[in-house]
Amino acid sequence: MAKSEVRGRRRRGLQTGSDEIITLNNVSKAYATGAPALNGVDLHIKKGEFVFIVGDSGSGKSTMIKLLLRELIPTSGEINVMGYDLVRIRHGRIPKFRRNLGIVFQDFRLLKDRNVYENVAFAQRIIQMPNKVIKRNVPSILATVGLAGKYKAKPRQLSGGEQQRVAIARALVNRPSILLADEPTGNLDPKNSWEIMKLLEQINENGTTVLVVTHNREIVNAMQKRVVTMKKGVIVSDEERGGYIDDED
Ligand code: ADP
Ligand code: MG
Repeated sequence: MAKSEVRGRRRRGLQTGSDEIITLNNVSKAYATGAPALNGVDLHIKKGEFVFIVGDSGSGKSTMIKLLLRELIPTSGEINVMGYDLVRIRHGRIPKFRRNLGIVFQDFRLLKDRNVYENVAFAQRIIQMPNKVIKRNVPSILATVGLAGKYKAKPRQLSGGEQQRVAIARALVNRPSILLADEPTGNLDPKNSWEIMKLLEQINENGTTVLVVTHNREIVNAMQKRVVTMKKGVIVSDEERGGYIDDED
């Protein structure tokens, strides 16, 4: 954490424990139209946690992810991620902040005309990593996600599960402190979904804080992780070793 951030937090008296990596205090987000997408959300996540975010479509899960990425600014409330005050952060510091976040989406978002190696290397080129280092890091992270032999393949030559592994490798290659995944198994069959979730669990066991938005109740129930349940912009439950709450009204 930058010294100026520490001083700033002390000055503002934010209640962020030193082992807390994500803090939302009374966060609301209203878009131009409709009911607030988030309404008074409090959430505290410690370094090294694995957290599932579940809830019906429209309950505010993706809005929360976008706030954590500083793609959106809250209408009110405080957000602190890795010591960065995301309400007051200066624009010039956002790229440095984002460097420590990995993000994975349902639809993979790979560069279709680039091979696997280039898709992952791209993330390192953005932060101006020297080619020598990229040549070492990319094969290493591809081995971690189980794609050591596929570095020349184009995305269309890969299964959905493999494409998501490339996206995860790209999200991890810059060694982020936090990995955010917004419905990462939404386009995958059950077998590939399980493999991706197990990979995310392994990444977490290696020290990365992992937040996973998902609708996959079987996996959530089996994995026995912390489960945050959202409904209409509010956190309605937050359980250690929780399960998927059945509520279809
Ligand atoms: P989830 O990811 O849980 O499905 P979202 O965070 O995407 O939920 O959406 C929460 C609510 O905010 C929904 O009612 C949705 O229609 C609304 N919403 C999301 N994005 C926008 C937007 N850009 N403009 C207006 N309303 C939005
Ligand atoms: Mg969503």
